[in-house]
Amino acid sequence: RSKRRGRGQITVYSREIAQEMKRATQLEQALRNAVIADAVDVHFQPIVRIHDGAVVGFEALARWMDPDIGSVSPAVFVPLAEERGFIDALSETLLRKAAEAALSWPRELFLSFNLSSAQLMDPGTTDTILSTLARVGLDPRRLELEITETAVMTSADTASRIIADLRNHGVRISLDDFGTGQSSLGRLRDFTFDKVKIDRAFISQITTDRASEHIVKAIIAMCDGLNLAVVAEGIEQKADADKLKQLGCGMGQGYYYGRPVDGPATLRYLHDHFREFMSIERSENR
Ligand code: C2E
Ligand code: MG
Ligand code: MG
Ligand code: MG
Repeated sequence: RSKRRGRGQITVYSREIAQEMKRATQLEQALRNAVIADAVDVHFQPIVRIHDGAVVGFEALARWMDPDIGSVSPAVFVPLAEERGFIDALSETLLRKAAEAALSWPRELFLSFNLSSAQLMDPGTTDTILSTLARVGLDPRRLELEITETAVMTSADTASRIIADLRNHGVRISLDDFGTGQSSLGRLRDFTFDKVKIDRAFISQITTDRASEHIVKAIIAMCDGLNLAVVAEGIEQKADADKLKQLGCGMGQGYYYGRPVDGPATLRYLHDHFREFMSIERSENR
């Protein structure tokens, strides 16, 4: 349209925007197809008790590898599904797959599942989650939902209703990426959570930056006082784990303990890391 001299700049920008929109729409179509084809996968990363390294649960992390596009990060495709209005369908598929996998883990291990902010604005979320669990046969008491502070803020009334209803069914709630985003300590008083996950940004600097260490120490003390469990995210090195152990942090997660891996590899991880797994498996197969 704007081909006249002097407006070239606008033409370039609008072409770029148009290309970007086209790309997003292609990505959206590919993702919708992947959801229908059940091709979006879920991987699992161990969450451990820091003092002895025992695995206590796994976080489910979405993975999507399109044959033409390649692998796309959930940090890209989850927001896309939210914007384009099919996060419900995507999330339901992911929860079903994650819950099915959790059925073959020892019963004492929990499944932690990320909920997107759009889902916390939708009053139908509670039923969707509970009916998915019921269909799969996973006890709601084995599920934890990870939500972010931003998500809780955007739709406080609906979010608190959803949280309360799910907690009444035994589902636990973790506050993810704590310390980043639009944090407010008041949130910890107004909402009922069970667990706080300290953002990786603090953990990655814990042995090199005194300020990060003090912040983590304060978060742990606050959570102890509020009776909240604590998980440190992004533990990459033994030195990080040692420092967190010294600070009395309850749980940890990160590449040092294990990277996210697919379902079968998760079972192999359990064989190597969960003492009672072999005997439990044997008794169930009887
Ligand atoms: P998150 O929930 O905070 O997940 C933790 C992210 O940190 C994951 O990235 C994980 O692979 C990565 N990570 C774990 N340990 C380490 C470590 O030691 N070092 C470093 N550098 N990174 C580590 P991933 O899998 O790319 O996921 C990114 C984000 O996408 C997640 O952040 C979560 O917000 C979102 N996401 C992933 N799966 C789902 C899902 O099924 N549903 C929803 N709604 N969001 C999801
Ligand atoms: Mg998470
Ligand atoms: Mg996180
Ligand atoms: Mg994150």
